[in-house]
Amino acid sequence: MTDLNLPALQTTASTCCYCGVGCGVLIEHDGTRIHGVSGDPQHPANFGRLCSKGSSLHLTGDLSSRALQPELRLGKQLPRTATDWDTALEHAAEVFAHSIAEHGPDSVAFYISGQLLTEDYYAFNKLARALIGTNNIDSNSRLCMSSAVVGYKRSLGADAPPCNYEDIELADTLLIVGSNMAYAHPVLFRRLEAAKSQRPDMKIIVVDPRRTDTCELADLHLAIQGGTDVALFHGLLHLLIGNGWTDRRYIDEHTEGFAELQELVSDYTPEYVAQLCDISLDDLHSCARLIGEAPAFLSLWCMGLNQSTAGSAKNSALINLHLATGQIGRPGAGPFSLTGQPNAMGGRETGSLSNLLPGHREAGNAEHRREVAEYWQVDALPATPGLSAIELFEQMRNGKIKALWIACTNPAQSLPDQTAVAEALNTCPFVVLQEAFRTTETAKHADLMLPAASWGEKEGTVTNSERRLSNVRKAVPAPGQARPDWAITVDFARRLQARLRPGSAPLFEFTDPQGLFDEYKGLTQGRDLDLSGLDRALIDRLGPQQWPFPQGAGSGTPRLYTDGRFPTDSGRARFISEAYRAPKETRDARFALTLNTGRLRDHWHGMSRTGTAARLFGHVSEARLSLSPADMQHQRLEDGELVQVHSRRGSLVVPVVSDDSLRPGHAYLPMHWGDRFLKGGVNCLTLSAFDPLSRQPELKHAGVRVEKAHLPWHFFALIEGDVQQHLEALRPLCEAFDYLSLGLTGRERPALVIRAAHANAAAAELLAQIDRLLGLDQGPVMAYDDPAHGVGKRVRIEAQRITALRLAGETLAQDWLQGLWLEGRVDDSLRRWLLAPLSREPGRTASQARDRILCNCKNVSQSAIEAAIGRGLDLAELKNQLGCASQCGSCVPEIKRLINLVAVPE
Ligand code: SF4
Repeated sequence: MTDLNLPALQTTASTCCYCGVGCGVLIEHDGTRIHGVSGDPQHPANFGRLCSKGSSLHLTGDLSSRALQPELRLGKQLPRTATDWDTALEHAAEVFAHSIAEHGPDSVAFYISGQLLTEDYYAFNKLARALIGTNNIDSNSRLCMSSAVVGYKRSLGADAPPCNYEDIELADTLLIVGSNMAYAHPVLFRRLEAAKSQRPDMKIIVVDPRRTDTCELADLHLAIQGGTDVALFHGLLHLLIGNGWTDRRYIDEHTEGFAELQELVSDYTPEYVAQLCDISLDDLHSCARLIGEAPAFLSLWCMGLNQSTAGSAKNSALINLHLATGQIGRPGAGPFSLTGQPNAMGGRETGSLSNLLPGHREAGNAEHRREVAEYWQVDALPATPGLSAIELFEQMRNGKIKALWIACTNPAQSLPDQTAVAEALNTCPFVVLQEAFRTTETAKHADLMLPAASWGEKEGTVTNSERRLSNVRKAVPAPGQARPDWAITVDFARRLQARLRPGSAPLFEFTDPQGLFDEYKGLTQGRDLDLSGLDRALIDRLGPQQWPFPQGAGSGTPRLYTDGRFPTDSGRARFISEAYRAPKETRDARFALTLNTGRLRDHWHGMSRTGTAARLFGHVSEARLSLSPADMQHQRLEDGELVQVHSRRGSLVVPVVSDDSLRPGHAYLPMHWGDRFLKGGVNCLTLSAFDPLSRQPELKHAGVRVEKAHLPWHFFALIEGDVQQHLEALRPLCEAFDYLSLGLTGRERPALVIRAAHANAAAAELLAQIDRLLGLDQGPVMAYDDPAHGVGKRVRIEAQRITALRLAGETLAQDWLQGLWLEGRVDDSLRRWLLAPLSREPGRTASQARDRILCNCKNVSQSAIEAAIGRGLDLAELKNQLGCASQCGSCVPEIKRLINLVAVPE
């Protein structure tokens, strides 16, 4: 029966706000609240598919985590208090104007985000460069894609990925380098899986020091030593030349610089390269053959190449292979970088790195500055180079930056060397944070917090990895006083202009995102990315389009360089000859392991959004350090044991796990955990050394050492209810513990979980405070304290269900208790356990692995899948009988791996 009082559900087509695949989503809503999402069957990026992150978008970003009103503090030691927009922006304009007058335009800076929309970016760029006169505007894309930008520009003449997603399906040999595509770009991986099953002759090579789930699809996996990619690519070119697999005609007609490169790679003999990369000669030869004999050769790459002090060289060395074999500018062929963030491409297009200007122009190029200044009708644009992300925070730490505006990003989680980042943020006199989530690590550093609209609440455009512009549409109003990013920026800019240039012609007369887009696209006319023929209405009519799309065009451009002409001075692509350079921190006696950081399937970057959904913690509930079985044995470590990880910059405590996907000498941590969920945060270990050209930091290669953490006192707590509120209240108290990890659990009834450990027992007063916040100090609480053993247990039971619990001293029963909580079951075993001096539950051991949810869509656990595989079920039968892998498919690679691992009984 239909409830006539309920508003009817509507559907709004938009774009996923997570990764650079740029999937189309259909938002199901009632005009005020989003109820669900599904994949847009019409969108050419995903044709209806979504991954586990995209399909749970409607479960994220609940109101309790949102910034709802402007908040201001007038002293670093004071708390922020609520204010109105007028007061907030007047204050910000006054502080910025004062700083500019006293210390010059370069005393202020903007640090923005690959998650902003194109219109937001454009407003920020005009504000910084045209109004203030500074190039101090950089984006978190600096951490993500700036090496790819340099790679494309140096080798091909413009920052333009030449391929499209269809090429992934059309390639004969596909080289995936430094990308766990199965986790980081799952929908593209689904497309690749489907193509490979249709054309089993397609060959897939994965180059990665780890055997990731992406390798499940690989015909060849080269587990090179981390950071040796340039040597590998030069070694491959050496073999391609030696075997006559290069395209001499293409080299002669369309490229320059080959002779120099040929000379360089002659030193990269197969024996030398195989030894340096620590791979077999056979595998090296096989890889060269698969590339050299392929009718169509495509390469895909991501952070493994980009986040490196040799990131630019790695990108160009890979592109060299395409130019030498003529594998570019035709179907199924070309170098194709996978973009991390949803609109990192839009940022590059609008000039949102300190060295760029809108329309793929250079801030260091006087002619480009003149063109943009003329278009904006200002006298000149600043010539002083702007600060890139790492340099910006360094200068802030030195006191040079007096006012910083951060938008839609979380540098207190994502930048390397977090101790230095915290010092920088504390040193800066005025930090503005324009952000949808008030819960991020950066929020505590903000002097002014400005609430921004988020996904589903704002309009604009984004460009995905294949140069395709999609419309982002608004389905529901933003909550509280939150406003779209472009509107905040434009409002601030007008107030600042009134102070800096009173009476001058207005620069920011925009009233909607369309106005910003229309002005911006004029700056692309005649450039390689010409968008002058595009607008939102056209995208509504024809669907998302790939640039260039000049005026008068009837459709976008699927592939670039089809005629062999490149946007360089000579019209030829350039071979780049750079020798292999080792990463900054090679192993030594003190730091004998190399730490790699990477992405998980169900979390996105710093967890601002995914950290609000308990369901997304089901796959991996806490950060764990992975070590190879050999290193585990060498250090006499057990699975789940707590270890201290030290780098030259900081240290943290995490549980360790044996992981046979790693080579000896390598360690791995997921990059998502900041200090909010893991004391210290993963990036307290990483280093800020950066590539000399792209200025992208080496986030994936830090020297570390691992030691047992002697923390005998353990703590575990769980509480259901408003998890964000509980997290906020409990996190500061738990700071006292040496090891501290927080996370969410559950589906229908989300709960906060706290795991901690310490060298000594916690003070009784601290435990009492924590118990009060957990609701375990009074009411229907069962309690047992055994001071002789240092053990304390508390369980709150309401309506025959556990609603909160706490273990102190030792926590062996935590999994069992969490199971009882999940099942909503209370029985006699609970009372018996409670009165026992030790809290281990009968029949189970401490080392028993925590189960996890492999299929998030259908809530199917790893143990259930393993049991079914043990009974002989294959993937198709698992889909039928358990339902796993039947919806978004993100769990398919892991299930395939389990099928290969679990022994089927005779
Ligand atoms: Fe979103 Fe997943 Fe598509 Fe990326 S692959 S855009 S995260 S649905």
